[in-house]
Amino acid sequence: MGKAISRLERVIELESKQGYKDKAVVGGIGQFAAFWVSQAREEAVSEADLALIEQIAESLSSYSRLPGTEARANAMDLLLRKIAAQADRLKESQPPKVEPVKSDPPRVKKVESKQEPSIAITPEPEKIETPDPELFKRPVTEIKGVGPRMAERLEILGIQTINDLLYHFPYRYDDYTLLKPINQLVYGEQVTVIGTVWETRVRQVRNNKLVQSTITDGTGKIQATWFNQPWLVGKLRAGMQIVISGKVDQFLGRPVFQNPDWERLEMEPLRTRRMVPVHRLTSGLSANKLREIVRQVLDNWGHRLPDPLPVEIRQRRGFYSLARAIKQIHFPDNQETLHKARQRLIFDELFQLQLGMLGYRREWQSVPGNPIPFDGPAIEQFIGQLPFTLTASQQRVIAEIGSDVANQIPMNRLLQGDVGSGKTVVAAAALVLTSRAGFQAAIMAPTEILAEQHYQGLKKLLANLDIEVGLLTGSTSKSERKEILTKLANGEIQVIAGTHALIQEGVEFAGLALAIIDEQHRFGVDQRQALRQKGVGLHDNGKQLNPHLLVMSATPIPRSLALTLYGDLDLSIIDEMPPGRKEIKTHWLRPSERERAYSFVRGQIDRGRQAFVICPLVEESDKIQAKAAVEEYKRLKEQVFPDLKLGLLHGRMKGNEKESAMRDFYDGEADILVATSVIEVGIDIPNSTVMIIEGAERFGLAQLHQFRGRVGRGEHQSYCLLVADEVSGDAEERLMALEKSNDGFLLAEKDLEIRGPGEFLGRRQSGLPELHLASLTDLDMLEIARHEAQSIYDEDPNLQEPDFEGLKEKVSALWLHAGDIS
Ligand code: ADP
Ligand code: MG
Repeated sequence: MGKAISRLERVIELESKQGYKDKAVVGGIGQFAAFWVSQAREEAVSEADLALIEQIAESLSSYSRLPGTEARANAMDLLLRKIAAQADRLKESQPPKVEPVKSDPPRVKKVESKQEPSIAITPEPEKIETPDPELFKRPVTEIKGVGPRMAERLEILGIQTINDLLYHFPYRYDDYTLLKPINQLVYGEQVTVIGTVWETRVRQVRNNKLVQSTITDGTGKIQATWFNQPWLVGKLRAGMQIVISGKVDQFLGRPVFQNPDWERLEMEPLRTRRMVPVHRLTSGLSANKLREIVRQVLDNWGHRLPDPLPVEIRQRRGFYSLARAIKQIHFPDNQETLHKARQRLIFDELFQLQLGMLGYRREWQSVPGNPIPFDGPAIEQFIGQLPFTLTASQQRVIAEIGSDVANQIPMNRLLQGDVGSGKTVVAAAALVLTSRAGFQAAIMAPTEILAEQHYQGLKKLLANLDIEVGLLTGSTSKSERKEILTKLANGEIQVIAGTHALIQEGVEFAGLALAIIDEQHRFGVDQRQALRQKGVGLHDNGKQLNPHLLVMSATPIPRSLALTLYGDLDLSIIDEMPPGRKEIKTHWLRPSERERAYSFVRGQIDRGRQAFVICPLVEESDKIQAKAAVEEYKRLKEQVFPDLKLGLLHGRMKGNEKESAMRDFYDGEADILVATSVIEVGIDIPNSTVMIIEGAERFGLAQLHQFRGRVGRGEHQSYCLLVADEVSGDAEERLMALEKSNDGFLLAEKDLEIRGPGEFLGRRQSGLPELHLASLTDLDMLEIARHEAQSIYDEDPNLQEPDFEGLKEKVSALWLHAGDIS
């Protein structure tokens, strides 16, 4: 760090020659500080260096605020002495493990002088100590000034340990770095003023006691008023040097402060003069108290915070140390250091997320699976009996799956394909391979309707191949269930479709070698794990084997994002539609055009087609949604289509009621199906050609696209009519995008763009840990995190090296609460 230091010394020398006018460098010492710090940091080789830089930075940045030549001279002298002391210490003791030395420069704090306020911002030399992870796991009551009662309050915020406290990040900052003389204040500005208390008085105004101080700084006077804090009178004594930060108000045409934050000038800046952190609070815990506690922990122990991130990664990516990042996120020096702190902490989250994913993948693959040989003739026979030719994408994906399952390492694959792209046939091909090899396969869907539809569809697809297909859902009758369980256990059933019922206790397989999960985003990591437990002992030594896993999703997610969200999975994409599929014509109608929509529906029904009406989203509650659907159904039946047959489908109906509603519609017994969003997934009724979506502005783009996928599944031209009442900017964009495009991937990108990461992922994020700072669409950082996680993983997949101990702990802590299903 020699270069940086001598650069600094030259500046100080010049400054002293010029009489401490803050003219030695263009822009002033304060600006120079920022520039110098970034250079010095590059040269820093030890924690001790970083600590020193930190101290220098603090003195430099407050330099211009120091009133008077002498104060400035003192400050610079002190700085030079500190630098010298550090150089001495380094000479004396290598490695630098130093207790504060008695001969350290005297703390200027103690110098009492009326004219020259003492210099703030000279903390004790930082103790250089070895990291102590245990320290941070201790309860907050170990902090001085935090008793049992304070601990209770902190616990309300989820803070139990010192570490929790450090990770209780501010949610915003009040920027009080703007320092101004009183005669230049502008109304409405957030600003800091340094001055002397001229006088302080209490005034009684009705029931309120007002404390009013007049502050002067040589350029002018300003009045500051505090309400209901009478004790301030005793504190804000005339002659005291104080710092005031707040918003400039006006009263009778003059600038004033109302309830500003203030500190004595010699105090270390906590709530004035800086970017002041604003933390989430709870009753009985004031902003200042929390700031003080955090500050205290950082000052006393900050340097003992271990950094679990391997140092090579930190250096390669230019990240702050953890201690530095934590310190800066609570008490940033400026916007730039805050940004860098966030970068480091965001990286941490994503990195740990990725490591966790890789861990899951490894866990899945650590137990071998049953190799399922690729039976070419069987596949040819299967494909040959289909009423259509497979698309190139479908063929490619079948090959990908075929080669995966032939391995002893269990497959772990995500298949993405837009609604109607033909995923089921691909899944069926895998089922054929599995049963031909003498194993069993399961296909799990999120709803009963969908499971039933899979059951029906697969029975048809596999009929000529002599494969026994079964169905198991929550509404399977007791006696049927018993029979099915027996047949699963003795291997009579080769393919089973079902819901969660499949992963319940008591369900045992003779030889489950392939598990398929449809409509992936509804299942979390947990459920994948549960399925795995169903793998069975077909191995020589009778050990449990993992089934191969195929996860199918019709909710296209941009590739980069998919890799992250499902980073534990390999990715296959069906990116084309079967030929001859007609684009669904989509129109956005005003409510006043509803009649037109109805007559259009009538026209389609006259031609023998069928229609869906999707009810508006009232609330994310099945019950309320069901009620709305019942009302809409009645209205349509009584007032609009009294001569037609209407069906009703909502989430509150029993399994068999849903089933019969679906069946009636499928069989053409109903012309119109009035439904809630339960219709979202996979139902296939080729004769339906028109869908009205009521309250379309309330649904997300991806969901609207899913609904729309219910029509256009047959040979007829199909239509989607979006009826929207009140349309905001976002909704307008969504509806227009939907009118324009039928491409699910494109719409997904658009959706992400419109809604932003949080909402886009909201529902789908189930099974992933909650991230505090990072966003999963922080794609650049994600890429870095993925890359670095992979490099660590390649080196030591189990994180067994002692160096990784801290990292391992962090990963499991992050993932501890993950896997909750939505
Ligand atoms: P999804 O990917 O939404 O699950 P499905 O597998 O249900 O799609 O297929 C949608 C419809 O397309 C089904 O009726 C299916 O029989 C048909 N289909 C699938 N593949 C092809 C193809 N290659 N050519 C023509 N029709 C196909
Ligand atoms: Mg499907």
